[in-house]
Amino acid sequence: MRRPPIELHHGELRVTGSLLHLDARRRVECAFVSHAHGDHIGRHDRTIATAATLALMQHRLGEPKRRPTERLPASFRAPFGLGELTLELFPAGHVLGSAQLRVTRGGIALGYTGDFCTEPTHAAEPAEVMGCDVLVVESTFGHPRYVFPPKEETLLAVRKFVDDALSDGTTPVLLGYALGKAQEILKYLSDAGYPCRVHPVVHAVNKVYEAHGVAFPNVKPLGPEGALAGEVVVCPPHLAWSPAMRGVRRRRTAILTGWAIDGSRSFRGVDAAFPLSDHADFPSLLRYAKATGAKRVFTVHGHEDELAAALRKEGIRAQPLREEMQLELI
Ligand SMILES: [Zn+2]
Repeated sequence: MRRPPIELHHGELRVTGSLLHLDARRRVECAFVSHAHGDHIGRHDRTIATAATLALMQHRLGEPKRRPTERLPASFRAPFGLGELTLELFPAGHVLGSAQLRVTRGGIALGYTGDFCTEPTHAAEPAEVMGCDVLVVESTFGHPRYVFPPKEETLLAVRKFVDDALSDGTTPVLLGYALGKAQEILKYLSDAGYPCRVHPVVHAVNKVYEAHGVAFPNVKPLGPEGALAGEVVVCPPHLAWSPAMRGVRRRRTAILTGWAIDGSRSFRGVDAAFPLSDHADFPSLLRYAKATGAKRVFTVHGHEDELAAALRKEGIRAQPLREEMQLELI
């Protein structure tokens, strides 16, 4: 049996028989970084990513103190060579700059989704279908119980929550991850004319977005005065009670997370939870995998077994990617 074109090597994804790692956490010689969330980035000798992802990584990691990093910015839909590999990036619709990668070698196209979301997005490049022969797909919400309502429906529900809080004379506080979720809701609300205040951590990320063409009208950082009447506050969940939030009184708080769809989860200290997700839900994962035309699919990150089983039911050869697979398949 032939070796699959992708392998897990010491816990890191690597294109088989090459130095190219995908979203490695440990320092490696050469890595493609799909997006700048903390569980996908590391300091590498050479980093291939979109310009926005490189900027967000630099913001997050700072300048390297010892060994320098060579940054190789890549644009969407602009194939380029790397040794015997041809690489091409496609938008992933997850956060600004998020990219899927297609690696072609010897006529076989390997597609890697990274984190992705096929729903329309307000602050990131919309996802595109990446045709490929072998697909490596994330499976964060790869279980049949994860079916999200349409994003616009969820956003309207958040807006109603905001309107109700404001009309009751309270400050709506929306809790979302500092990179991606915060900008999605801020873009939606600020474009609709709502004055917003953000935690300084979110403000710093917004600056990187703005430098890459995503404007946030009506958004200011929180100061010592807190929020004024009529303003909406956006803050990362773990910083809801941080010093910067001290001036925000009479709050009504909602958390924005795909996990809100999971009835078994409870969120302490919030008045509402909305399933605003920057990942594809279960039906979207199935639809996407089929749309790529891949004859073989490997699932990674999350509900790998359930998603692979569902894909097999659809007639696609699918299995979770495992470290020991090399021994079984070589
Ligand atoms: Zn992510």
